[in-house]
Amino acid sequence: MALKNCGKSYWWHVRHLLPDLVFRLRLFLALYRGSTILREKCFVCGASLGFILLSHWTLHREAQCRMCGARKRNSDAAYTILKTCLGRTEGCLRRNVPELSHLRVYLTQSSGPLHKHLKSLPNFTCSEFWKGIVPGQVHKGVRCEDLTRLTFDSQTFDLIVNEDVLEHVKNFSLAFSEIRRVLKSNGVHIFTVPYNETHTTQRRAMVDEHGRLIQLLQPVYHGDPFRPEGSLVFTDFGNDLLTYLDRLGMRTEDWVLGLWHDPGEVTWIDTADKHAEYWRHYLKGTLVSAFQWNSHVFVSRISEAGRDRRHHDEASFWPRIVT
Ligand SMILES: [Zn+2]
Repeated sequence: MALKNCGKSYWWHVRHLLPDLVFRLRLFLALYRGSTILREKCFVCGASLGFILLSHWTLHREAQCRMCGARKRNSDAAYTILKTCLGRTEGCLRRNVPELSHLRVYLTQSSGPLHKHLKSLPNFTCSEFWKGIVPGQVHKGVRCEDLTRLTFDSQTFDLIVNEDVLEHVKNFSLAFSEIRRVLKSNGVHIFTVPYNETHTTQRRAMVDEHGRLIQLLQPVYHGDPFRPEGSLVFTDFGNDLLTYLDRLGMRTEDWVLGLWHDPGEVTWIDTADKHAEYWRHYLKGTLVSAFQWNSHVFVSRISEAGRDRRHHDEASFWPRIVT
């Protein structure tokens, strides 16, 4: 590894190599402890060494590839991108990225394994949401976008990808509506969210007309690389999600790519006892051990009905949301 004469500072190397070194160390410790391995191919890097649960983790969706460190859910999203956009799943995203060059791609995050490979595409856009920054502006080198009021022209993208983002958006129906607006007629929206197979969607929090946060259920946070306290969950998605999307004019398929838990075991925090159990893990810093979700990847395309109505049809969403 040549650290000299490559034009990069010492701190650049520390910042970029340290996470990988930490992952390798945790991997070694996990192997030493005999942590569970999902013996599957990684569709991010192509390795077949399997996925491993690090230290105390129990959430299989977050198991990491022993070669590249991608999560199982990243691999499932990569598989879905290859199958949907190229019609095959030989190889992996790393090797097949050049074949996606004809697509205009929007990834709603600026880090992670998918970003690492998709960012080399000639027509690639990524963004983060920064509070206080005007959407469309660049902050810390990354474009700021609010998914509920995107600054892109209508029908801009062939492929839009979100991974576990929409549950943190204060008005998810507006976000889906905006995604539909900026997606080309034959485009595809591929996304993951924590998903419960037996409950209907519930709102945990909302923002009122004065901009005040209203917590409808006790607060739940998911891990967030940019926020030490985590990212607040506004919506718990349930088994009526596809019905909502259909009403919005988005024909959506549910690809189940990892089924480890019976429906009754899947996380659904709706009582004080369940929240207390979750909160114990939150305070201990063992958040991924508090959750049990199967791996669902959703593939959403504009339906015939959706082509005719490019407006936000809020009435078809909210009345059925349990609050
Ligand atoms: Zn991998």
